[in-house]
Amino acid sequence: MISQLVLATRNRGKIREIEALLRELPLRIISLDQLSAMTPVIEDQSTFSGNALKKATLVAAASGLPSLADDSGLAVTALGGRPGVHSARFAGPDADDAANNLLLLQELNGVPPEKRGAAFICALALVIPGGATYLIEESCTGRIAAAPRGGGGFGYDPLFIYNAGNLTFAQMSAAEKSLISHRGKALQRLKTLLVAGAP
Ligand code: IMP
Repeated sequence: MISQLVLATRNRGKIREIEALLRELPLRIISLDQLSAMTPVIEDQSTFSGNALKKATLVAAASGLPSLADDSGLAVTALGGRPGVHSARFAGPDADDAANNLLLLQELNGVPPEKRGAAFICALALVIPGGATYLIEESCTGRIAAAPRGGGGFGYDPLFIYNAGNLTFAQMSAAEKSLISHRGKALQRLKTLLVAGAP
């Protein structure tokens, strides 16, 4: 099994969730901040997998170390799958979570609960320099709330109600969210792969 892994992301919410789930493995996790200046990767691919692969490949090439990238986002049925790969920049290039959530609520104004279906998608790419590349994609379904609820998580968590329940992801503990979330499920598969000895 590999002994160290660079996380190819600066998103604090993602880093928290990834570190929590990989903590039990004998793996030294290195953040991008610990590496010498890395130019930001332009996420210009049309799929989550394409962007994850691009990020992990560039960081692995620059660092010479195994690199893991997460590209993820929210696809809302009533919006034809938007914001999708543009989730982080939905309300503009410098948009923060609050601005993105506000725009999402505005775009869904007047849409009834039964038509507010959505899915979170997470693509993980693991690139080993001179070795194998792994791609894992997972999703979880739910619906968009009428107003934000809860103080946990990050991004669209206050607006995402998981499946038939009534709690938003932001109202769950980190452990509860990770058991069912797109990223939690993808990381479980990654863990199985690493523990099994690949790569
Ligand atoms: P990117 O993968 O860096 O392009 O950005 C993903 C964006 O999707 C984040 O900035 C969030 O807005 C959103 N997102 C991804 N995963 C989650 C999640 O687990 N909860 C809430 N929002 C998420």
